[in-house]
Amino acid sequence: MDRARLRQLLARESADAERLNPRSRAAYGRAEHLFGRVPMTWMNKTAGAFPRYLESARGARVQDIDGHEYIDFCLGDTGAMAGHSPAPVAEAVRHRFTVLGGATAMLPTEDAEWVGAELTRRFGLTRWSFSLTATDANRWAIRLARAVTDRPKILVNSYCYHGSVDESLIVTGPGERGSARPGNVGAPCDVTLTSRVAEFNDLDQLERELAHGDVAAVLMEPALTNIGIVLPEPGYLAGVRELTRRHGTLLINDETHTFSAGPGGCTGAWQLEPDVLTIGKAIGGGVPAGAYGLSAELADRLLGRDDLDLVDMGGVGGTLAGNALSVAATRATLEHVLTDEAFDRMHALSARFEAGVRAGIERHALPWSVSRLGARTEYRLTDPAPRTGTGAAAAGDTELEDYLHLYLANRGILLTPFHNMALMCPDTTERDVDTHTGLFAAALAELAG
Ligand code: PMP
Repeated sequence: MDRARLRQLLARESADAERLNPRSRAAYGRAEHLFGRVPMTWMNKTAGAFPRYLESARGARVQDIDGHEYIDFCLGDTGAMAGHSPAPVAEAVRHRFTVLGGATAMLPTEDAEWVGAELTRRFGLTRWSFSLTATDANRWAIRLARAVTDRPKILVNSYCYHGSVDESLIVTGPGERGSARPGNVGAPCDVTLTSRVAEFNDLDQLERELAHGDVAAVLMEPALTNIGIVLPEPGYLAGVRELTRRHGTLLINDETHTFSAGPGGCTGAWQLEPDVLTIGKAIGGGVPAGAYGLSAELADRLLGRDDLDLVDMGGVGGTLAGNALSVAATRATLEHVLTDEAFDRMHALSARFEAGVRAGIERHALPWSVSRLGARTEYRLTDPAPRTGTGAAAAGDTELEDYLHLYLANRGILLTPFHNMALMCPDTTERDVDTHTGLFAAALAELAG
């Protein structure tokens, strides 16, 4: 890689981004009353000096306030995997909010049982409860796991992400017990008091950690998706299930991103058997919604415990969780948008995307790789693809990633800012994918000189 050339190209793309987006730049400059100038501080995680401001979005398309249109492969980092404002969800929201009325009334709606049954069909777990975010689904699942096992610790994979869940902010090393993830903000206590950690794909390390006998649950994604995609090696997930069963530890699959693997996520696609499953983001079709599922046996054990306050202030639940609006949106998303047929189409598009990227990499003989998980594809600036979270974290290249993101964004394509990740939605077309393939090849050609 000619680094001097890369820097020159990055400087050119940054200057172009400023020239092309005067209104976004000015809006960012004026945003003095926001912490970090943005509605949420992570919106500063963008290639370039300021974020592009959203004007409107529909399906696989986003328009910014400078009048540019983008093919959106970011899709709200999965929150919009159903496409932006899909018509059946818009109609369900309108009906619930304005025709029937009552977004949040502290009363159940009949939609909830429909959604519970559909989640059971897809994921296998038989008792469901709702949250507004995947973070809260994970938090509450963790509390229930601790309560039912009477064990203090949660085990996660190094460089996992499960939302702002205190227990998950741990990485392997330098010692045997691991340490706080770098940058962890205001930890309530030393994370090794609440958590254990093992590398993804490392069954020996998992076994050593579980052998302490104090782990209530393993919380994991069946494939890591938040440090790029790290796929499970053959036998790994079966090994995790066997070891967790042997050590009396519950297994929680977080399918928030791995939902891309199919209508029932990896759990459905690979016949996994978690004790608990958590999910958020995409299931509401853009309306905040999350859920967690339990086996009937686990649910009965929890409900049979009269020392646990599951109805008031015992630490599980939220006023807006399971609200009528979110549940109506979730029903519409699952019933009409992210259907089994839609996943078939999204997977075919994602395979086409993967093939296009691979062709570009091969043409320039780059030491890069590409990984796919159903509707989600990721290019890695390393080959072979990393097999652990720590390996994936070490393989990042900010300059190169910023160049690719800016090159594409300046020409009308959005990737997920945290990764080189592209997600398909039901409205994505083959033409959208081919536009990316062409621009990706052109970005590489410029880099090659
Ligand atoms: N779990 C996983 C696997 C995620 O990727 C994320 C967010 N990227 C979360 C949980 C948290 O989602 P939210 O921020 O919507 O709570």
